[in-house]
Amino acid sequence: MGGVIETEDGNVTSVPENPSIVFIQGDGVGPDIWRAAVGVIDAAVQRAYAGRRKIAWQEAWAGEEAIQRYQTPLPPETLEAIGHYKVAIKGPLTTPIAGGFRSLNVTLRQLFDLYACIRPIRYIQGTPSPLKNPGKVNFAIFRENTEDVYAGIEWQGESNEGKKMIRFLREEMGAEVRDASGIGIKPISPFATKRLVRRAIEYALEHGRRSVTLVHKGNIMKYTEGAFRDWGYEVAAERFPGKVIREDEIEKVGAVPDGMVVIKDRLADAMFQQVLVRPEDYDVLVMPNLNGDYLSDACAAQVGGLGMAPGANVGDEVAIFEATHGSAPKYAGQDKVNPGSMILSGAMMLEYLGWIETARLIEEALQKTIQAKTVTYDLHRQMQGATLLSCSQFGEAVVKNMGDT
Ligand code: NAD
Repeated sequence: MGGVIETEDGNVTSVPENPSIVFIQGDGVGPDIWRAAVGVIDAAVQRAYAGRRKIAWQEAWAGEEAIQRYQTPLPPETLEAIGHYKVAIKGPLTTPIAGGFRSLNVTLRQLFDLYACIRPIRYIQGTPSPLKNPGKVNFAIFRENTEDVYAGIEWQGESNEGKKMIRFLREEMGAEVRDASGIGIKPISPFATKRLVRRAIEYALEHGRRSVTLVHKGNIMKYTEGAFRDWGYEVAAERFPGKVIREDEIEKVGAVPDGMVVIKDRLADAMFQQVLVRPEDYDVLVMPNLNGDYLSDACAAQVGGLGMAPGANVGDEVAIFEATHGSAPKYAGQDKVNPGSMILSGAMMLEYLGWIETARLIEEALQKTIQAKTVTYDLHRQMQGATLLSCSQFGEAVVKNMGDT
């Protein structure tokens, strides 16, 4: 049996030498990418610590396999294990569209108050990219995970609740709303905004990043997205005096003082252009839920697509690391897809535990594997003279390249 990781206020305070970590293989291609990734993670830990440290994996179930085993997609046993062990890693889970059960991913985020969705977007040399200079891309995206139109406060236009809302909006609020309109509510609070922006600024300071950019649509949605921007600047000034400087204050002092993080803001639509034309000007990007959903996938495409994009959903107590793509059901069980996202999420998890050297081993070995042009089908079809590997072969190649580092 492994030991339990301790966390407090968003920080990991103690990690035993053999920490228990929960894994959920997930649906569709989940088991394929999990098998490849766990081999890489275990090999890196073994290589870095020669048996002194070892992860005690605890399997839990969610999604289709949980329905088979427990007749429910998210059994209480799984929730208990995540709550107890505090760190988990998961494959993708299928969500039925328009009906069926609610997204398990959204449910997990809300149950454990995993308020920060963190996506590092960094170019791995050799990966095919649609950009001319992908090496300039190095962002960390912090997306708010619990609010916005994603909070699930919505009604069908023809339902009793929907009609009641429409009546209320027309009669009491003087709003013009067409008959049978679906209604969704977009709550954005100072509490959720400030804890996310605080976390993004702490990350920027700890990782020596130069700026934090608040990405919003405040020109149109003044009291939600505009307020997000204002609360972001407020928490920066309140919590980090002497450590941050607003972009509009730089001119007054001439240049950014050494070690200070610049806080700036951009409209979301402009940001989509900026990440393409001036990626070098941006470091940490922090934004509400919906902007974050779109921008993080768009940015992932810049560095090789979803098959290569790691991610984590993190709260003050629990952190769940995950492949950021979906369950790609048409490739399920074919040992075909790219396990890169899951492998890099594993590296991110090891970094979260403070096992930094293990994370670096994985990243370097992955880079070597791609530079050797030994890749899965998604990258293979974009590369000249590459060797096609299956999902499991790619994992094995990464492990082998670790041996050479
Ligand atoms: P998807 O990411 O599953 O697949 C879209 C396409 O992307 C695939 O057909 C494939 O061509 C490509 N792709 C995805 N992962 C790849 C990989 N590792 N290697 C190579 N190519 C890869 O998106 P979708 O089809 O929109 O969603 C399928 C299901 O997954 C839905 O039920 C959706 O709700 C769910 N989903 C889950 C998560 C999650 O669990 N975090 C995230 C997104 C979607």
